[in-house]
Amino acid sequence: MNYMERVCPIAANEPIGPGFFDLTVQSADMARAAACGQFVNIRCGAKTLRRPISICEIGEDTLRLVYEVKGEGTAWLSQRKAGENLEILGPLGQGFKLKNAPENAVLIGGGIGTPPMLQTAKALKNPTAILGFRTRNLMILADDFAAACGAVHICTDDGSFGHHGFVTDVLKQKIAEGTCGLILACGPIPMLKNVAAIAEENGIPCQVSLEQRMGCGIGACLTCACKNKNPMYVTGNAHVCKNGPVFNAKEVIWE
Ligand SMILES: Cc1cc2nc3c(=O)[nH]c(=O)nc-3n(C[C@H](O)[C@H](O)[C@H](O)COP(=O)(O)OP(=O)(O)OC[C@H]3O[C@@H](n4cnc5c(N)ncnc54)[C@H](O)[C@@H]3O)c2cc1C
Repeated sequence: MNYMERVCPIAANEPIGPGFFDLTVQSADMARAAACGQFVNIRCGAKTLRRPISICEIGEDTLRLVYEVKGEGTAWLSQRKAGENLEILGPLGQGFKLKNAPENAVLIGGGIGTPPMLQTAKALKNPTAILGFRTRNLMILADDFAAACGAVHICTDDGSFGHHGFVTDVLKQKIAEGTCGLILACGPIPMLKNVAAIAEENGIPCQVSLEQRMGCGIGACLTCACKNKNPMYVTGNAHVCKNGPVFNAKEVIWE
């Protein structure tokens, strides 16, 4: 793993929705090394464990991170201002594998799993994005995806915007239309599990980015174990921080 530890000046850290923040940090060498689907681990004040946040967008000398305030660490982060510094370890993990990706890739993002799909969209030719949110107020990054993708479909659980229903409804439509040659997804586990099942039924390659409670972020503490069928994991467990967060959906054992 080719990660580095840097003190990164904050270029911006602005609210973009209820409890959602859009953070840009400066680090030319981390930006050069980063790839879509990877994450960084941020020291949040006095917390011993850093907090993992996915890379949403890679600039020339910046990383954009979009996060939701969940507990004390992310609450601390949300109070930081432009010009302050953050201690960041990254880029970490294995991102999406896009070599030989077809032109008709479909990206799926659910809730706060949406951010890493933006840089992934930018790395592909004319992809389709299907984004799901509980309700219209929690929708994030819709304009960014519109700029990066050939088509964007928004789904809300309550029907307050776009398709009333789940991302999987639209995915099935795309497959029926024959416009889906690869599926890349990040979001809640029940969503990923259903996406993986649809991909398998239709023989479409699928990669999923898993979230798991994490300790060190570099494969030392082994907290973030997840069951995996790939024989290279002799214990039957992969680790989200080092072997993931992106995995071949066929190899994940869903619990
Ligand atoms: C690979 C990866 C990428 C992520 N990307 C994003 C992102 O782009 N945007 C975003 O908002 N959130 C993301 N998360 C979730 C984010 O890391 C947690 O919401 C955050 O760590 C919560 O910290 P806290 O101190 O605010 O909350 P607390 O609940 O107080 O955290 C306590 C501890 O649990 C860990 N933890 C809590 N929730 C999670 C979680 N869901 N996943 C992993 N560890 C957790 C924390 O690291 C910490 O050690 C990602 C998680 C992983 C594993």
